[in-house]
Amino acid sequence: MKMEKKNLDWANLGFGYVKTDKRFVANYKDGAWDDGVITDDDKVVLNECAGVLQYAQTCFEGLKAYTTEDGHIVMFRPDLNAQRMHDSCERLEMPPFPVDKFVQAVTDTVKANAAWVPPFGSGATLYIRPYMFGSNPVIGVKPADEYQFRILTTPVGPYFKGGAKPLTIKVSDFDRAAPHGTGHIKAGLNYAMSLHAIVTAHKEGYAENMYLDPATRTKVEETGGANFLFVTKDGTVVTPKSNSILPSITRRSLVYVAKEILGLKVEEREVTLEEVKDFAECGLCGTAAVISPVGKIVDHGKEICMPSGMEKMGPTIQKLYDTLTGIQMGKLEAPKGWIYTVE
Ligand SMILES: *Cc1c(COP(=O)(O)O)cnc(C)c1O
Repeated sequence: MKMEKKNLDWANLGFGYVKTDKRFVANYKDGAWDDGVITDDDKVVLNECAGVLQYAQTCFEGLKAYTTEDGHIVMFRPDLNAQRMHDSCERLEMPPFPVDKFVQAVTDTVKANAAWVPPFGSGATLYIRPYMFGSNPVIGVKPADEYQFRILTTPVGPYFKGGAKPLTIKVSDFDRAAPHGTGHIKAGLNYAMSLHAIVTAHKEGYAENMYLDPATRTKVEETGGANFLFVTKDGTVVTPKSNSILPSITRRSLVYVAKEILGLKVEEREVTLEEVKDFAECGLCGTAAVISPVGKIVDHGKEICMPSGMEKMGPTIQKLYDTLTGIQMGKLEAPKGWIYTVE
């Protein structure tokens, strides 16, 4: 059954919440998850003392569904989101939602909202937000006994309207993650404490923060919501390695593309702030933009200007971007299991 598409101005959508028709809701109680349902009800009613409201016991995921040229609705590697949410849950003492059921629930939710999946060529996508939270009353500090897992979807516009302009970012004086903390999981708490840092950076005219390792403040970690990729002057792709970086699915996919498809040399290693001035290109990777180019990094007044400049992406980052988006859109052959067809 083909659903009539909603009448939206797809190409001019921003990145904001638009209520769609259906969402998925499952509940965990007495030690087990129920089967979950697809529902019209967008409201969450919680006890005033719910665990999530007191001690922020919550984590989330983010992925996209979109339409390929041949008219299929697909998702990109949802199994990796399922596994990552599983890992986040374990670190937060939450009951993981089984990986196979996660993929099925995401599929069902997208299918139920097929009319909201933007058409091919619009540049827009249906953003999918799975999330889980402690739902029963908790006042003494301990994990909740009951949880809710939900999946909402919202159509979002093209990330780059009129081309990808390189960003100017700053080296932050705030830390994103502690050495043995929660930087490697997708916990809401990592974002709550980054809000002051990003509002401050925006007030100062910067698009993003470059966070350093909190122990020595000499090594590059990531931004608030994207991993770094650098390219050396001789074309080697370099990405920071650290236990407190969130393992971006986009970054892991780009590393594979660089190595296995483009035949580039890739180094996953510690990257010092000191050596950033020697790189030729810099980009931020995440689901939303795939790669956003960075043109300038400001370290306490000292400007580090990437040779790729402030007008366009550097050539290697452009090639990585074109290849991964080509795979996602079905124009290039995808590695096995990367593209998951919804319908
Ligand atoms: C979600 C996220 C990313 C990007 O991960 P993708 O799987 O590529 O979307 C990077 N850093 C942080 C801190 C994140 O929360």
